[in-house]
Amino acid sequence: MVGGGQGAYIGNIHRLASRLDGQWQLVAGAFDVDPARGRDFAIAQGLDPARSYGTYQELIAGEAAREDPVDAVAICTPNFTHYPIAKALIEAGFEVICEKPLTATLADAVALEALARESGRFVGVTYTYSGYPLVHEARVRIARGEIGDVRTVQVEYPLEWMSAPIEKAGNQQAAWRTDPLKNGRGGSIGDIGTHAYHLAGFVTGLKLESLTADLATFVEGRALDDNAHVLLRYQGGARGLLWSSQVAIGNSNGVRLRVFGSKGSFQWYQEQPNELIYTPLDGRVQVIKRGSADLSEDAAARTRTPPGHPEGYLEAFANLYLGFAEAIRARREGREPGPAGRNLPLAYDGLKGVAFVEAVVDSAEAEDQPWITPVAV
Ligand code: NAD
Repeated sequence: MVGGGQGAYIGNIHRLASRLDGQWQLVAGAFDVDPARGRDFAIAQGLDPARSYGTYQELIAGEAAREDPVDAVAICTPNFTHYPIAKALIEAGFEVICEKPLTATLADAVALEALARESGRFVGVTYTYSGYPLVHEARVRIARGEIGDVRTVQVEYPLEWMSAPIEKAGNQQAAWRTDPLKNGRGGSIGDIGTHAYHLAGFVTGLKLESLTADLATFVEGRALDDNAHVLLRYQGGARGLLWSSQVAIGNSNGVRLRVFGSKGSFQWYQEQPNELIYTPLDGRVQVIKRGSADLSEDAAARTRTPPGHPEGYLEAFANLYLGFAEAIRARREGREPGPAGRNLPLAYDGLKGVAFVEAVVDSAEAEDQPWITPVAV
């Protein structure tokens, strides 16, 4: 692992989730921007001091020189560092698991996706919400035509934690997220809008045709948007509406997806992730429960406990790690991956996310808020 040191947010989620299925073992790390603190943290995690590195460059040199190097490296650092770290890892022959957004700039995302493709190295991107079993279930059922042709997609990711100027009060996570050079051009849209955009496209299979956006910065002095409204036109005629907000008081992590088709609809809310609401035309509202016997193999492969025993965020994140392990193994063994290793978020999905953010900010910054087609859809 690179990043995710003392006081960091997502690194610990990676550590917990990667352990759940016994497919990964954390054996080396350069956890912190401060090399000494990073080494101390690694040793405190129980790592071999020889594999407790101060920098990612040391990690690459140290691991490349071993007979038993790491299989993959998870990048859990602020956005602007993803590209140089991932590039160096891929060039040294390592597989990569990278946090979203893939990079802070479009040029970096284009270059990284090309490098991943040309090198043949595995690059997984941790779009968390595509790890939930009922999100897969909705994807399978929509592909089967259960709600007919998709007409409109409503997707939202509201958070409240940045409703006050906490970046000025020493909040580590808010500080780099409001710095365009470290975060990238899109504030809420880059940080969480990318999750919503991926989720909508993943579940519906729709590809974007064009978008128009309205960004706002409500907290005084903040350099980036903290609220975004985006209208989406998908290829084939479907429409979408995406809302991301860091200032939506009352929302802890209110990811919500609603897909309306010609024959029915699906609704999923991440704070109630064990239920998928299905409503057929002229029928009753139905609750599809995670773990039910009649679900798809895609959902079953991502389910560990029977219905009624709640699974959630850590299990969804673990499903990404399970899938990455299966995909990497299958590739090395020259076989097709099993269901857990299919339909994973990869480098191209990461590029699509960054291209989406670029198009949103371009549209919002233009005076007439034009419809724009992202460079990758
Ligand atoms: P954070 O500020 O809490 O942690 C960043 C960590 O990276 C710190 O430990 C810092 O010391 C370390 N670091 C910085 N530069 C480094 C370098 N050059 N070498 C080694 N370590 C370095 O940030 P966070 O909130 O955990 O976010 C990290 C990344 O994860 C971001 O890209 C963010 O968008 C993403 N994220 C994803 C999700 C998700 O749901 N998938 C959730 C939160 C954050």
